[in-house]
Amino acid sequence: MADTILVTGGAGYIGSHIVVELAQAGYAPVVLDNFANSSPAVLPRLEALAGRRVPCIEGDVRDVAALRRVFHDHAIAAVIHCAGLKAVGESGERPLAYYDVNVAGSLALAEAMGEAGVTTLVFSSSATVYGQPERLPVAEDAPVAPNSVYGRTKLVVEDFLRDLAPAGPNWRIAILRYFNPAGAHPSGTIGEAPLGRPNNLVPLLCRIAGGEFAELSIFGRDWPTPDGTGVRDYLHVQDLAEGHIAAMKYLARTPGVATFNLGVGRGFSVLEVVAAFERACGRTIPRQFAPRRAGDIACVYADPARANASFGWRAARGLDSICADAWRWQAGGGKY
Ligand code: NAD
Ligand code: UDP
Repeated sequence: MADTILVTGGAGYIGSHIVVELAQAGYAPVVLDNFANSSPAVLPRLEALAGRRVPCIEGDVRDVAALRRVFHDHAIAAVIHCAGLKAVGESGERPLAYYDVNVAGSLALAEAMGEAGVTTLVFSSSATVYGQPERLPVAEDAPVAPNSVYGRTKLVVEDFLRDLAPAGPNWRIAILRYFNPAGAHPSGTIGEAPLGRPNNLVPLLCRIAGGEFAELSIFGRDWPTPDGTGVRDYLHVQDLAEGHIAAMKYLARTPGVATFNLGVGRGFSVLEVVAAFERACGRTIPRQFAPRRAGDIACVYADPARANASFGWRAARGLDSICADAWRWQAGGGKY
C-alpha cells in the first residue's frame, strides 16, 4: 500500500506542487490547511493532476487536538511541513502572529507527531536565515543572520528541530532551506496565486504582463552586483517539489537531523529575470528604478552540493522554463 504523507499547507503554492509530485511518485498525500493564504478551489485541480483523491482536512497547525485527529484517522508515514506565514514585510508588523503560526504551529505539530509515533519530518525553511552571506555560493555551515522577523521564526524552528532529533532515537528530520522558488506546474493549472499586489518578483511580473499592474519598481540600481540590481537563485517549484521527495527517501535510510540548501547554484539579477520573462511572454515589462527595499540584500545563491551528495538532487530546470511556466499559469488566469 502507498505510504500516506501529510502535507501541512498543502493547498498553498509550494505545498500544492509537492502534493502532485507525491502522488506521481506513488505516495498517498493528505493535506492539512486552514486556507489562511490559499483557496479550497485548488483541491479539484490537485486531484486532477494527481490522478487520485487527495483528502484535505481544514484545520490549523497550532491546534493539537485537530492534529491528533489527523494522526488517528490516517496512517501517516511522514510529514512535510509547509504551513506558515511567509511575508517578510508583514512579519515586522505582526511579529506575534508570525511567531505563533510559524513557531507555535511547528511545536504543536512536533508534539502531535511524537505522540503518534510519526517521526519523519521535512521542514520548509528558507535561505533568508543566512541574511547577506559573507561568501558565495552559500553553504549550509555558513553563519546565520536573518534580517527579518520571518527569517528569525524559521531559525527558531530549525534550532528546536536540531534539539529535538537527538532527544529520541527515531527522529528523522530534513530542514530544507529554499532559495527563490518560482514558476508553476507545466500544465498551467496550479501556480502561485498571491492576494493583492505580489511582493515577489516573478508573480509580480506575471501580473504586470497580464495587465493587472502598470509597472515594475526595481528596488535599487546601485547594489554591488554586475548590473547594480539584486541577484537571487531562482529555483523552479517543480525542482523544489522533487527535492522534497528525494529528501524524504533519504530520511528513510538516515536517522537524525540534517540541513540542506535547495537552490540552483547560480544567481540572476532583476534585469536578467525581467529580460527572460519578456522573452517568455512576448511582451514588454514597463519598469522604473526605485530606492532599495528595506531589509533587502545584494546577492545570494546556493551551494547545493550537500543535497546532491546526500540524495542525488539537482535542479533540472532553468530561468527560461520558470518564466514560461509562470506565464502559462498567468495566461490561464493565474488565480483560483
Ligand atoms: P503559501 O502561503 O502559498 O502556503 C502556505 C500554506 O499554509 C497556505 O496554504 C496557508 O493557507 C497555510 N497556512 C498558513 N497558516 C496556517 C495554519 N496556521 N494552519 C494551517 N495552514 C496554514 O506559501 P508557500 O510559498 O507555499 O510557502 C510554503 C512554505 O515554504 C512556508 O513555510 C514558507 O515560509 C516556506 N518558504 C517559501 C518561500 C517562497 O518564496 N515561497 C521561500 C522559502 C521558504
Ligand atoms: N524586486 C524588485 N521589485 C519588486 C520585487 C522584487 O526589484 O517589486 C527585487 C528584489 O529587490 C530582489 C529580487 O527582486 O532583488 C527578488 O525579490 P523577491 O521579493 O522575489 O525575493 P527575496 O528578496 O525575498 O529573495
